[in-house]
Amino acid sequence: MNSPVYQTLILGGGFTGLFTALNLAHEHYPRSVILIDKDDRFCFKPLLYEYCTGEMDAEQVVPRFEKLLKDSGVIFVQDAVQSIELHQRAVKLTSGTTYNYSNLVLALGSVTGYFHVEGARENALPLRTQEDAIALDRKLRDCMQRATQIEDAEQRRKLLTVAVIGAGASGVEMAGTLADLLPHWYEALGGNSQEIRVVLLNHSKEILEGDINHYLREIAEQELKKRAVPVEFIFGAEATAIYPDAVEYKRDDKTETLPASAIIWTTGTNTHPLIKDLPISQENRDHHGRPFVTTTMQLLDFPEVFAGGDCAAIKDNSLPPTAQVAYQQGNAIAHNLKAMALGQQLKPAEVNLRGTLLKLGIDNSVANIFDRFQIEGEIGHLIRQGTYLELLPTPVHDFKVTSDWLKDEIFHRHMHSGEAIETAVKVAGVIGGVVVGAIIAKKLLNMVTDDQKSQPQLQRG
Ligand SMILES: Cc1cc2nc3c(=O)[nH]c(=O)nc-3n(C[C@H](O)[C@H](O)[C@H](O)COP(=O)(O)OP(=O)(O)OC[C@H]3O[C@@H](n4cnc5c(N)ncnc54)[C@H](O)[C@@H]3O)c2cc1C
Repeated sequence: MNSPVYQTLILGGGFTGLFTALNLAHEHYPRSVILIDKDDRFCFKPLLYEYCTGEMDAEQVVPRFEKLLKDSGVIFVQDAVQSIELHQRAVKLTSGTTYNYSNLVLALGSVTGYFHVEGARENALPLRTQEDAIALDRKLRDCMQRATQIEDAEQRRKLLTVAVIGAGASGVEMAGTLADLLPHWYEALGGNSQEIRVVLLNHSKEILEGDINHYLREIAEQELKKRAVPVEFIFGAEATAIYPDAVEYKRDDKTETLPASAIIWTTGTNTHPLIKDLPISQENRDHHGRPFVTTTMQLLDFPEVFAGGDCAAIKDNSLPPTAQVAYQQGNAIAHNLKAMALGQQLKPAEVNLRGTLLKLGIDNSVANIFDRFQIEGEIGHLIRQGTYLELLPTPVHDFKVTSDWLKDEIFHRHMHSGEAIETAVKVAGVIGGVVVGAIIAKKLLNMVTDDQKSQPQLQRG
């Protein structure tokens, strides 16, 4: 394909790539922009649990790029990137098309890591994409359905046991959600909901170890025990093999087996293979193999190339691999691409960590605000829901400046305030506003959910 001289390619339309594209469109970037993703839909990963449970629908959690980018001037190409030639400034796609670029944005995210655990890739279910959510939904429904027809108690027990591997944020959210959801499903099929088991298996001795959410460890552990069926914990256990109907693990030098028909893999993240293949030396990468970028989000030896989100690292400034980091870096990349095009000075990316939000069951979450305030239960859930609804990307013709994320009010402005009481009052006031907004949002969500009740399984919407 013949390329215009000034062409910016964005590889990957996740939080970094999509928010770069939306901001470029919003800021009337003077160059041609092409966004390439292997999927036809953006995936709002933090809400995949809501998609699985039917609390939210495909249009909200996995909206089509075509719709989001309508009237934006950004060209969307659905194709997988096959190779990236930084020296030639060229990107080859699996369809055989090659694009040249004047500027490139690397926003390919990360991939699931299986740590060479035997059978994990083949037999465990990951949750990263819409396809994963659909596969998980099918598997769980199939197990419940089969269980209703089985007389043998041991066989039925196996079909009704779900093992969640890894007690980081994803594992905790997954276990809490399923421990509320599955009893409800099974009861609707006429089964005894108390036969359901959700088992969280973890290498370390506690949940959320080393995670940005570790402040929420105690609350989360208590909440997991209060679900419709209490989540069971197997700690200090290293998964050594995953079979179609069992997890083998090592604990205290003993090998044990947990029979389970659905095994969900939430642990382990690897650097994207295309990022590993880039001609960048080891000293210009972090210990995961992610390339270092400057504070302005440019590769050290290729200043025309920007990278952000899960696939890049800033030297001496380790940031957690989260959506809130990725979308803010996307905003910064867009700003700097425009500055570069206009010959202006580039600015360091500012990333504000605004606390964390953890789903701990249906209608139950905990919001951790700057490690100072923790709001749990239904109000925590409304804050989480309201926050994410606010962040959901909207088509460009309907563009709200999403970088002014609602949480700027709560999390950013008050962060540096010395007056604890004043801060508490302000935060409480803003949260009040958020909750009112979230209640409205919830009503809307309920309307969606009611519509969905007639829908037996997740579909590509
Ligand atoms: C289940 C789950 C729950 C999470 N919950 C939270 C949360 O509550 N809060 C939070 O802050 N973070 C959460 N995260 C983490 C967050 O989603 C990631 O940190 C964030 O998505 C990273 O954004 P990104 O742009 O770097 O990558 P991604 O959002 O992963 O986007 C990468 C994009 O690249 C595309 N791509 C990959 N390979 C190719 C290829 N070869 N060719 C073309 N396109 C390609 C993918 O299709 C994808 O669209 C969660 C993650 C998961 C999996």
